[in-house]
Amino acid sequence: MIFTFNKRLNFSLKFSLWGRHSGAVQWPITAFALLLWCIPAAVGGQTATRAIVLAWDGTVPDFAHAMLRAGKLPNLAKLIEGGAFADDVIPVFPSKTASGFASLITGAPPNITGISGNRVPRAPRDQFTILESLAGFSAAPLQAESIWAAARRAGKKSVVSHIPTFAGELAEDTVRFSGYTLIAGRDGIVTKNAARSTTPAPWRNSPPSAALPIEIRFSIGKSKFFGLLIDDPHDDQAGYDTLVLAAARDGDAIQARLKPAPPGVGGELFWSRPIAIKTAGNQDAKSYFRLFDLKPDGGDLFLYYTRPVRDLPLDAHGDAVASPTVRTFVGNGATILFQQGAFGRTIPNGGSGNAEARYLETVAFAQHQLTETHRWAIDNVPWDLFLAYTPFPDEAEHLWRGHLDTSLSTYRQDLAERVRPLLERVYRSSDDLLGLLLSKRPADAVFALVSDHGLQGIHKRVALNQALQQADLLALDAQGRVDLTRTKALYPAINNGYLLINSKDRKGGIVGSDERDELILKIRALLLALRDGERPIVKSVYDAKTDGPDMGIGGEVGGDIYVELAPGYDFDPRIAAGILVSETQPYGSHGANPAQPAMHTLMVFNGPGVQAGQKLKNVRIIDFAPTLAWLVNFPKPKDATGRVLFEAMAEQPDRERSPERIDATP
Ligand SMILES: [Zn+2]
Repeated sequence: MIFTFNKRLNFSLKFSLWGRHSGAVQWPITAFALLLWCIPAAVGGQTATRAIVLAWDGTVPDFAHAMLRAGKLPNLAKLIEGGAFADDVIPVFPSKTASGFASLITGAPPNITGISGNRVPRAPRDQFTILESLAGFSAAPLQAESIWAAARRAGKKSVVSHIPTFAGELAEDTVRFSGYTLIAGRDGIVTKNAARSTTPAPWRNSPPSAALPIEIRFSIGKSKFFGLLIDDPHDDQAGYDTLVLAAARDGDAIQARLKPAPPGVGGELFWSRPIAIKTAGNQDAKSYFRLFDLKPDGGDLFLYYTRPVRDLPLDAHGDAVASPTVRTFVGNGATILFQQGAFGRTIPNGGSGNAEARYLETVAFAQHQLTETHRWAIDNVPWDLFLAYTPFPDEAEHLWRGHLDTSLSTYRQDLAERVRPLLERVYRSSDDLLGLLLSKRPADAVFALVSDHGLQGIHKRVALNQALQQADLLALDAQGRVDLTRTKALYPAINNGYLLINSKDRKGGIVGSDERDELILKIRALLLALRDGERPIVKSVYDAKTDGPDMGIGGEVGGDIYVELAPGYDFDPRIAAGILVSETQPYGSHGANPAQPAMHTLMVFNGPGVQAGQKLKNVRIIDFAPTLAWLVNFPKPKDATGRVLFEAMAEQPDRERSPERIDATP
């Protein structure tokens, strides 16, 4: 999941429990927790009263297995060894992040949650056309009860730390950190050429320098920055060795003193503290700065800054003071800039690996910031259910899976061998986060690791709207926009692996219910006949009306026709005239039919009541919430249709009584 700037920001954080926690009692609790962690894995039959859940976005089981065999994921190995584990967990259709998390936290598929993708068609249908949509994460309403709302019915308190959350949730008494809703701009790079000061002027209180200071100027949002390259007399490095940043030409107003250092181990020491930014929309936000390079002659520099983000509003609550690092969210590595080539030429394009090294340090920093937040929250906010998120490995899987997928015709072993260790470092950073949370686990807590989907390599993209246009099912007006008066079906820009039928129950719709069956037949035949050379492009076509109940697809805010492409192909949602199939640089993707093995992912339960060493089969992500609720003895979310994974339990419970135990709890 890569979150970009979204104007419809919506932040909700409730602190009703906050003030009760006194700073004086923190330290003994922490010591107690650490002590307990040293006790061997929980004995079967005990009942957990709490749970810690860590979500790794986009985990590919085969890749994790290879690392486990090589001893490179020690914390995951420990968790699996002492727990019950599934590595072919079936996600939902589409296997996207928003739909996946909505289903993980509710135990219900997308036709029940109403989150049918990262963006969702707008409802009610009679008020919106097939062209209109809402952001799945922040604006589209979640129509099913979340696991933390269910836990609350049993009097349990939850902390939801940067887990994707949805609009309209019942979340009273839940402390939520929703960093992804606080993003207020884009990250960026400053180089000397971009920032050369054309009208340098004298500084007041100019910092001491052994060489003539060189001024640079740049803006982020509405904030103007003045920088001076200096040769710090206290620094042994020859030549220009320091960049000072200030909001004015005044050495007394310096906000950051940055030393250049190449990316690598210990690089996080070279990141600035959060620096205040006024965004283009006049919001108060902050960014971190990192000077990756500064030439000793002052001839060039490479300065990176993170997305401006509004602070987590923590200050006014409780005695436990959160550090600036906790308060200023990062949330992702510099994946967009890296992909655009802004970090330098990438390895597949002939680069030396320096761009990757810079990118990996931004990953490490994002993980560091998340880790600090999770650590602070688990120590200082009361919880029975603690849920934590990391966007890794997903973000890096998108960048590199295409070079590791041996089924693609573009596969090159030499390239794969250079890319694999890079992706391993990202998995390892998620394993480190797992290790931190494991070290915080009290003995009465179940620990669960979950993920929302796998990924597959992509080397070609298919523009289904081309086929629809050629079959006269989709028409454009003179400006190239969809002409709803002549359009029967569309692959919408929300790109969720499904077509929408412009049916008469929708605003602007033209397809009557009596025409639907015939239209479905026509589209099915059209799509299944598509060829790339000799090769079929579309593997399967599903009708939400007939296949919906079994597959968890469709519904008021779902699609009408779900499409499964052949492996290696991804959707291209463009409507403009062009070619049906285009080649692309290999990359990783998800969203496909959850039945495809490449979309499968991991789930692990460990702790009181869990059978150690158990391998679970036929697990779906919708089974997670009911199973966790059972283990921690609170009611399952009201709308959950997933099953309790009894085979994960240490003692086989009396299944006759199972529904009672779950439903009778207040
Ligand atoms: Zn993703």
